[in-house]
Amino acid sequence: MSSAVTVSAATTVTEADTAKVEIRSVHKNFGPLHVLRGIDLDVRAGEVTVVLGPSGSGKSTLLRTINHLEKVDSGTVSVDGTLVGYRRSGNKLHELRERDILKQRTRIGFVFQNFHLFPHLTVLENIVEAPVSALKRPRKDAEAAARKLLDRVGLADKAEAYPKQLSGGQQQRVAIARALALEPGLLLFDEPTSALDPELVGEVLDVIKDLAASGTTMIVVTHEIGFAREVADTVVFMDEGRIVEQGPPGDVLDSPRHERTRAFLSKVL
Ligand code: ADP
Ligand code: MG
Repeated sequence: MSSAVTVSAATTVTEADTAKVEIRSVHKNFGPLHVLRGIDLDVRAGEVTVVLGPSGSGKSTLLRTINHLEKVDSGTVSVDGTLVGYRRSGNKLHELRERDILKQRTRIGFVFQNFHLFPHLTVLENIVEAPVSALKRPRKDAEAAARKLLDRVGLADKAEAYPKQLSGGQQQRVAIARALALEPGLLLFDEPTSALDPELVGEVLDVIKDLAASGTTMIVVTHEIGFAREVADTVVFMDEGRIVEQGPPGDVLDSPRHERTRAFLSKVL
């Protein structure tokens, strides 16, 4: 696991040290609104980063830049050393073509607050759609893999059901299985339990905890502080488009250094 990667003649780093996600000086505007104001963040391979922050602080926008759902105005995002949305040639960055963007996107799983399942497809069809169409997997293989994933999220008996026949918690677990079907190196969760009735939150968090234990790199936007404390390697607190503070959960959650972090935590705890 520690094969050497040569970065330049002068520096050599081991793979274990290599950040899976590197975000550098990222800025993003929506018209006059300066939504991301210089974000720097490293997420190391196999680690879980939980992003906290008030509504409107830019959490979703940050996740969406990693998965090509938003383009940055300046700065760079890279996943496993590959620039998201760009190709470097000399000192210049050139935008990727749609085909290459789709290819990059298949390496990243995204789970949305509102599930985003295809309502006209069964659970099984929802999961095999991307492996078959994007990765050109034979349907039979994709279906066998999908059934294993459904088993993993505790829904082996729901393969033939339609999304509307499932509870919100079950739909979100299907959405997680669908994200996993692409065997992503990185999983992004945007408030995966915010749309759920309180009694359904636990079953979804349990699935995400199970994934974290299996060593998948994850960035999770959530207000579930207990989950952050238990699962996160790093907690990031964002406010007004900036990372105000980041560190191990024990530091950020129990002895935050910034007043804004304290004020936020006192509201959600
Ligand atoms: P969070 O996820 O932390 O609640 P967002 O990243 O969704 O924050 O939004 C940050 C700010 O950007 C908000 O003020 C929001 O209204 C604005 N915003 C987000 N997406 C768009 C968009 N597509 N067009 C214009 N404004 C947007
Ligand atoms: Mg959001």
